[in-house]
Amino acid sequence: MKVNLDINPKYYQSVKDTLEILLPEVELHYIEEEIDGVTVICELDTSDGIEVNSYLKGDNPLEENIKDKEILADIYSEDDFSKRIKERLKLSLYRLLSKYLKKKISPWGILVGVRPTKIGHYLLDRGLDYQTIDNYLEDIYGVSKKKRDLLLGVIKLERNYLPNPKDAKNKVSIYVGIPFCPTRCNYCSFASYPIEKNRRYMPDFLESLCYEIEKIGKVVNELGLEVDTLYIGGGTPTVLSTRELDKLIRLLKEYFVHPKLREFTVEAGRADTIDKAKLELLKDHGVKRVSINPQTMNQVTLDQIGRRHTVEEVIESFNLAREIGFDNINMDIIIGLPDEDISDVKHTLKEIEKLKPDSFTVHTLAIKRASRLKKNLDDTDLSSAREVEEMIYLTEELAKNLGLIPYYMYRQKHILGNLENVGYAKPGEESIYNIIMMEERETVIGLGGGAITKLINPENWSLERLYNPKFPEQYSSEIEERTIQKISKLRRFYIK
Ligand code: SF4
Repeated sequence: MKVNLDINPKYYQSVKDTLEILLPEVELHYIEEEIDGVTVICELDTSDGIEVNSYLKGDNPLEENIKDKEILADIYSEDDFSKRIKERLKLSLYRLLSKYLKKKISPWGILVGVRPTKIGHYLLDRGLDYQTIDNYLEDIYGVSKKKRDLLLGVIKLERNYLPNPKDAKNKVSIYVGIPFCPTRCNYCSFASYPIEKNRRYMPDFLESLCYEIEKIGKVVNELGLEVDTLYIGGGTPTVLSTRELDKLIRLLKEYFVHPKLREFTVEAGRADTIDKAKLELLKDHGVKRVSINPQTMNQVTLDQIGRRHTVEEVIESFNLAREIGFDNINMDIIIGLPDEDISDVKHTLKEIEKLKPDSFTVHTLAIKRASRLKKNLDDTDLSSAREVEEMIYLTEELAKNLGLIPYYMYRQKHILGNLENVGYAKPGEESIYNIIMMEERETVIGLGGGAITKLINPENWSLERLYNPKFPEQYSSEIEERTIQKISKLRRFYIK
């Protein structure tokens, strides 16, 4: 559907960017382009607060009106006023066009960003209470009651774990990326290379990683930074042999593990990489949380998405981890996997319920550009938005039955049904690293393949990113130069 939009040109691009995500079937053009299509007029009056009137002309005329005097309150600045104008224009036009297309409004309203919870934290920092934030999310962004409850519940819980600006100055979390997996899942867009084809890069990669850990570890200690959480992810870290894992963790412990460390997680994501010796090693080294991720408990789907492990292996690995004494085990699943319907999801959830994980992360499938799935989309049967919503409802019920509550959440571009990913956990078993990483309120130093370092300035929570190369060969060949750069950035950032 082509739309000629008559709007103040100052706001056109921002409105277009959001509306084209929310309504991909709409092709917006600025009025002067005069293309064939419907014409929408969007009038803005800022003489007394903000008033937006949007009209759609033609055989079936429609209109939407929004008045906002709340923005005149003392707490708001000029910047807030300008931001609010854009939000009002977007909401008005989104409602108008959805009405015209007879489309349901997204449960997230006009919010299209990855981290909607950041808005909640920002408003809390400005002194707003939870009720006012609830009203704000509904009125300004059009967020549904269900999603507001989710968001507010999450930020309330996260506040218990997030460092305050003073503490955040000297705390860091460490992320270690192992960019190898047994095979590449077809929906994957992470730094991950199938081990069989890429094994020849492993020795150099590990040597480079040890080099990076030692160099950065020394600087972290020299700067007096306190390591808050340690997370080994990837890829699949347990693709390493027991000996390799042992060497890696010993080195990490030398620099980053101390009595105040709040969390030590290792992703043991793929059941085909886990055995008793590795789990015992992790336990002996003080790893507190492991993640064993089935994604689905349907063998046909596992085969189809290229995971090359069995449902039985997932169950065995989970039980083994329990026997060895892990009392914080996470399981990840994905909703909306190709060719899965409600009954498949019910089956997965039934199997997970039997295992009783301590935390449970529900991802809604997102079709990412770098995935094989994106390339084969035409041959794939994906669930409708309504089906996905129903599946998500079932996951919420399971979480409740297991006594797990939502503790972090995020959204992704091209996510099915315009929904979200939610991490649930038993109270006290939340992954602090996940919260910190999502809310970007503590520096994370990334080491290893594809790892991202985020230097967070607690004065205004702004951030600076540094990227490690994803491909192991490039990571190894550039390690010295990049480590020097990282060290100088860290020094400049912390010695002011
Ligand atoms: S296990 Fe995870 S990181 Fe590895 S290929 Fe699959 S989705 Fe990607």
